Amino acid sequence: MSFPAPSIPTLSPVTLPIAGLDDRFPVRRIYCVGRNYLDHIREMKEGDERDPPFFFQKPSDAVVESGATIPYPPDTEDFQFEVELVVALGAGGRNLSSADALDSVFGYAVGIDLTRRDQQRDMRAKMLPWERGKSFDASAPCGLIHRAVDIGHPARGAVTLHVGSTERQRGDLAQMIWNVPEIIANLSTSYRLAAGDLIMTGTPAGVGPVLPGDRIRGAVEGVGEILITIGQREN
Ligand code: MN
Repeated sequence: MSFPAPSIPTLSPVTLPIAGLDDRFPVRRIYCVGRNYLDHIREMKEGDERDPPFFFQKPSDAVVESGATIPYPPDTEDFQFEVELVVALGAGGRNLSSADALDSVFGYAVGIDLTRRDQQRDMRAKMLPWERGKSFDASAPCGLIHRAVDIGHPARGAVTLHVGSTERQRGDLAQMIWNVPEIIANLSTSYRLAAGDLIMTGTPAGVGPVLPGDRIRGAVEGVGEILITIGQREN
C-alpha cells in the first residue's frame, strides 16, 4: 500500500509595510527588552531596580500588522498589553559600539508586546522560561515602519496606549533606562544582529488586561501608531 508523499510546504516570509515605500520590511528575529522603564519595574514588583535589563525573543511569525483583529489567546485569563518603541535593523554585526549603533537602524515602529501575564508570572515563580507568557501566536503586533532617514532617531516623545477612549499607559522615550544605542550595543555582545531584526524596547507603567471587543491604540510621538482589536476567545 502506498501513500501520497506530502508536498514540500511553501512558507511566506514575514514582512511589515514601510511608510512611503511599496517594498516591505522582512522580519528575521524579534528581540524584546524585559525591563527598561523604572515605573514599570515598580508596578511589576520585579527584582532589584539596579539590575540591568534583560532580553527575550518572540517568534518572527508572531508579527501582526496594524488594523488586525487578534483572537483572545488560549492558556490565559490575564491577557495584557505593553506599548513599546520598535527598532528595525537594516544592518547588524557583533560587538557594535553604542557610538556606532544607530548606523544599523533602518527605522522605527510602534509595537505591542502582548503578554499572557498569568503564564509569565507562573513561569517566573517556577524559575522556568517565559515562552508561554510572551512568545505565542500573534503576540507581536507592529505598526508601519518609518525610516530613520524620514523621522530621525527619536530619543524623547510620549509613549501612550488607549483602550477604547481611555488612556491606560503614558511614558516618554526619555525615561528608558537603556536607550536605543545602548540596547543595540548590549544585545550585540550576545547575538550577531542582522538586517531584519526587530527590537521591542520595553514598556512604561500602566500595563493591564484586555477583553474580547477591546480596541487598542498604541502611539509613540514622532514615530506613529498601531491599532488592534481583541477578538473572541480561541477554542
Ligand atoms: Mn515588554
